[in-house]
Amino acid sequence: MKAPEPAGSLDAPSMRPEDLVGYEMIRRLVAFPTVSRDSNLELIDWVRNYLEGFGATTALTFDDDRRKANLFATLPARDGNTTHRGIVLSGHTDVVPVDGQPWDTDPFAATLVGDRLHGRGVTDMKSFCAIGLAFVPEFVRRGLARPLHFALSYDEEIGCIGVRRLIADVVGKAVTPTGCIIGEPTGMQLVVANKGRRTWRCRVRGHEVHSALTPQGVNAVQIACDLVSWIAARGREMRDGHRQDPAYDVPYTTTHVGVIHGGTALNIVPRDCAFEFEVRHLPMDDPDAFFARLRAYADSLVPAMQAVDPRTSIEFDTLSEMPGFDNEGRDAVVEIAHACAGSDVEHKVSYGTEAALFHGASMPAVICGPGHIEQAHQPNEWVRLEQLGRCEAFMRRLAQHVCVE
Ligand SMILES: [Zn+2]
Repeated sequence: MKAPEPAGSLDAPSMRPEDLVGYEMIRRLVAFPTVSRDSNLELIDWVRNYLEGFGATTALTFDDDRRKANLFATLPARDGNTTHRGIVLSGHTDVVPVDGQPWDTDPFAATLVGDRLHGRGVTDMKSFCAIGLAFVPEFVRRGLARPLHFALSYDEEIGCIGVRRLIADVVGKAVTPTGCIIGEPTGMQLVVANKGRRTWRCRVRGHEVHSALTPQGVNAVQIACDLVSWIAARGREMRDGHRQDPAYDVPYTTTHVGVIHGGTALNIVPRDCAFEFEVRHLPMDDPDAFFARLRAYADSLVPAMQAVDPRTSIEFDTLSEMPGFDNEGRDAVVEIAHACAGSDVEHKVSYGTEAALFHGASMPAVICGPGHIEQAHQPNEWVRLEQLGRCEAFMRRLAQHVCVE
């Protein structure tokens, strides 16, 4: 997302580390090398102890191997309320690998270079979590008028896997927050919607013969290409259709085939071909309807295939499923986030986040965090101190909404 900087900076244009409440906390969280494939338990334990030190109740939900955990922590309101009208500050603890990337500094030792802090996760997305945590002493000192929750997840970068267990646990405990702020990097702009994404693999089984006998075979590559062409044609229809939302950089639902494998030699009619494809859809569009039409088209091809060889087939596997969400329309948490961000501008993005999963579980979500998605996943990932300052200004204003005084 390319979000414009708001006109008229609300914060000091030049920030120094010593101006930032959360600077040391960011360095601390970055120092835990929580690459998605590795355990995040050290970070989770550290944050859990820290929050319990301020009176938080905490709950962990684990992956199947108990090597990774989500943390859901609640700082109770002064009146003892822990369940309703709270605000959730949410982020993922995992980061993408640094393997093979040319880093100029130690990726797990956040390092100041000019006005930029370099380190894996400084943008995506440890800074938001760290700044929220660094403000806990202030929130507690001023007294909370409503609960403040922290939701820290694992395995976001590999498909928003971990947070689903956290959300199920929260829903099961009848915790009903007003809403959830997810600190993915948006340049501290408010994002109120993101597209959904569904991915599939298609496997075509044909009938192998010498290519001199082509009519006696079933060419799996060519049938796959018919399906790929059908998928591309639906993409063009949606590009040219009326279901558009100009708030997105790509304002319509897209289809895309990203991987294809098939055939073994030019003189053999290929028996197997497989390809992987996605639909990245506006929240109002239904990927199931797209898939039902594709399935019907595939089924229409099968009788001619099976007339040659009854063992031929076209199969589909769903690979992943991320819903979209759209919180346009001034939900309570959107109002609070507007006030905290000091801006009325709203954006929508084409990449998926955990926001949709919270939103779908009756925790209305907005996305707003420091740094820019362009710097995420890159070597020398960096965030400007100015962005961290904006995030701290956001937390200060949030205190006015969640604190007694
Ligand atoms: Zn992220």
